[in-house]
Amino acid sequence: MTSRDWQADRRAVFDRDDHTCRHCGAVGDATDPTDCRTHPVGAAPLDGTVHESALVTVCTDCFASFSSSTPRSSAAPDPPSSREALFDYVRETTRTQGGAISDVASFASLATSLPTTLAESEAAGDAEPDAGTGADAGQPGADETAAKYRRIRQDVLLAIDIADARLERLAAIDEAAFDADVRSSVEAFSASATDLQSTLRTVVERSETVLAGLERCHGCFDALEGDRCSTCRLETRETADWERESGEMAFDRLFAAINDELQDASTTTEDLTDRATALAARLSDD
Ligand SMILES: [Zn+2]
Ligand SMILES: [Zn+2]
Repeated sequence: MTSRDWQADRRAVFDRDDHTCRHCGAVGDATDPTDCRTHPVGAAPLDGTVHESALVTVCTDCFASFSSSTPRSSAAPDPPSSREALFDYVRETTRTQGGAISDVASFASLATSLPTTLAESEAAGDAEPDAGTGADAGQPGADETAAKYRRIRQDVLLAIDIADARLERLAAIDEAAFDADVRSSVEAFSASATDLQSTLRTVVERSETVLAGLERCHGCFDALEGDRCSTCRLETRETADWERESGEMAFDRLFAAINDELQDASTTTEDLTDRATALAARLSDD
């Protein structure tokens, strides 16, 4: 790709998002192209022209929070090094994950409603969604559903990525700065939080499988043919595990699995809350 293509992609993404960070809501300066950054979500290939469904706008601060996974980056914020900073950090991490849980629940609810919604809009004679252009104001229906799907999926993936980056940084705290009780509390908290992350990812993956079952791309929502989307180049989710012998999608079984995972997520959340509370109590000791 040329850097010009990439620039064009980015500008379209910033315009779509009103130059507003999709994580924290910070509004960037539309006249300063360095004031906003893009973050890739999902697994669409990032070479060549990147489809807008695979990119979200983030502010420079939120962008820097991802730098924890690249140690050579000087933009990466340091892990918390005082009791007070650790307390705030854990509280903020819990809040980030709380946001991710509610995003995932909305995403699952939207995905599981799609077989009915799409059947209804087809029956009503709606047009196919436009290739990647998003909702057209004058054309509610299938286009609107597609735009809503893309948006909520981006929010979900961004929230999960941010929580991952925060947990990574928490794992990098200076052991010498905290006593053993605090460290073991942090480990217990991180273990639950990591469990929750993996459950949330499973819910997202299964919700995306609903799209594959409807022969739509789980990234951009366009109609699918073959095992790679021709619009955003995302690889199709495998549906074989969720098909009846007739080859028809067993949506009921898939939906039940999604609900089970959501139930697991809520059990893990209770556990996580207990551990966060225990850690907070240790940090406010003495
Ligand atoms: Zn932000
Ligand atoms: Zn696609």
